Amino acid sequence: MLNVSWFRQREYLLEISRALTEQLDLDIVLDKVLRAAMELLGGQAAFIALRRPGEGFVIQAARGIPQPLLPYFNRLLADIPENTNPASFRIPDLGLILNEIALQTGLPLVQVVALPMGIRRDLIGVLFVFRAYGLPFTLSEREVLASFADQAAIAVHNAQLYQQLAQEKRRLDAILEYSADGVMILDPGQKIVVFNRALAEITGWSAAEAIGRHHDEVIVWARRDTEMDLARATAGGWPLTHGRGSRTALYVEGDLRRRSGGTISVGITYAPLLDREGKLVNIIANVRDITRFREADRLKSTFVSIVSHELKTPVATILGYAETLARADARWDAQTTRELAQTIQEEARRLDRLISDLLDVSRLQAGALPLKMEEVDLEMLAQRVVQRFRPQTDRHKFSVRFPPDFPTVRGDPMRLEQVLNNLVSNAIKYSPQGGTIRIRGQVYPEEVVVSVSDEGIGIPATEQGRIFDAFYRVEDAQARHAGGVGLGLYLARAIVEAHGGRIWVESEPGKGSTFSFSLRRSDRASPPSVPARVA
Ligand code: ADP
Repeated sequence: MLNVSWFRQREYLLEISRALTEQLDLDIVLDKVLRAAMELLGGQAAFIALRRPGEGFVIQAARGIPQPLLPYFNRLLADIPENTNPASFRIPDLGLILNEIALQTGLPLVQVVALPMGIRRDLIGVLFVFRAYGLPFTLSEREVLASFADQAAIAVHNAQLYQQLAQEKRRLDAILEYSADGVMILDPGQKIVVFNRALAEITGWSAAEAIGRHHDEVIVWARRDTEMDLARATAGGWPLTHGRGSRTALYVEGDLRRRSGGTISVGITYAPLLDREGKLVNIIANVRDITRFREADRLKSTFVSIVSHELKTPVATILGYAETLARADARWDAQTTRELAQTIQEEARRLDRLISDLLDVSRLQAGALPLKMEEVDLEMLAQRVVQRFRPQTDRHKFSVRFPPDFPTVRGDPMRLEQVLNNLVSNAIKYSPQGGTIRIRGQVYPEEVVVSVSDEGIGIPATEQGRIFDAFYRVEDAQARHAGGVGLGLYLARAIVEAHGGRIWVESEPGKGSTFSFSLRRSDRASPPSVPARVA
């Protein structure tokens, strides 16, 4: 007997199915189904087994059965084939198996009904309800229960689908969020709806600030290498893949303006997401930081041009002059011989310097620049460098100013002299009109700062961040005119940083430049860990 009246029963079923279909949490749905089934039938225990592909039917939720006893009930599930049609579902010897389970577990269960939960021809689960007493389940009870089981099946199925969907979404979100590439998703009006972590890093915009803005507010190009009209594409003109019906992804490459200042080289691929009617739903943009590729390209081509030009020129001069000297048919006076030999010497020195620089670069790239640390008198080094350069120019005046209490620093004197050499040599090279070159020492509580300033051509603000890069030279007629390979400042920075210091430039085009580097005072702070390694 059902323990509620017929009329109440129908009401009850309706109410339950409403409650069930509104609910998308699988565990809650299962529990509601169990409660309702037990209440409808006056059952003392119940469980639901759901089909798991490859595993058969597995108990997913139970009421009225202590957890440790649940495995005994697996016998009821053991023989259900995975691809059973719900219409022909039947467990043979159900009553017998129940008797055995009751004996093994000591649970007073005497009646059982097993209700197939089907979605179309697919058995997704089985609902078991047990009674501790009373008559076998009647036919009308079974009918009511069957329609209840159908409702329950739909609710469970929905919750399962929802769970799958939520799981899938979580997975996609995680892939998006942790992708090493920048990813953003736009709506058809090009408003940003998704903006991942990597893209925040690349652009300097946080996701919270970027979401809701128009694409063009966030993606601002300082320079573009390829042309692409995203607005036109979104307005319906998205190009088709040649020969096929699908849409191509659009690609654009160039330098992006970062929100925090400066630029970054990126390549962006825009792929359209269309609905069944071919209407644009979203645009998925993948943003890749290509700085390293560009840098590698630049290094390669610069290296080749350096080897071909900067190394060949002195070698050609040396060869030519040496051949001249060696000619059997000529006699040179002492003056000419000396001049020829001096030129050979100069060119050989230039080669030697360049080769040392290249060796230093390869040492640096291998990860280490060994330093021989001792107490260094920077003022003395500065004086020595000036002595060396003074005879080479009559257009420039030199001034060296250090306060009397200027402390010594711990460092590698040869390497620090190399830094000063590079800075003073640049100061001369890049002030072809002459002027005064000043070397100044300043003392601060924790560090000392040495600066070299000139009154030369200066450096545009946009270039100031890059001149410390290997092989980087300013693309400017005046700067180009002076010979060089763009390694001096790169090495100077590497040396200063290996000492734990910093190097920087202040400059105004047409007025001059001041290069400064700082080193920690050895009388104040603990020395940097030795041997210093720089990347
Ligand atoms: P190089 O002098 O061999 O080109 P550096 O690494 O020493 O290489 O310098 C890199 C670039 O920085 C130079 O090509 C030049 O454009 C710029 N630069 C360096 N020092 C100065 C300076 N004192 N005044 C103006 N431009 C400078």
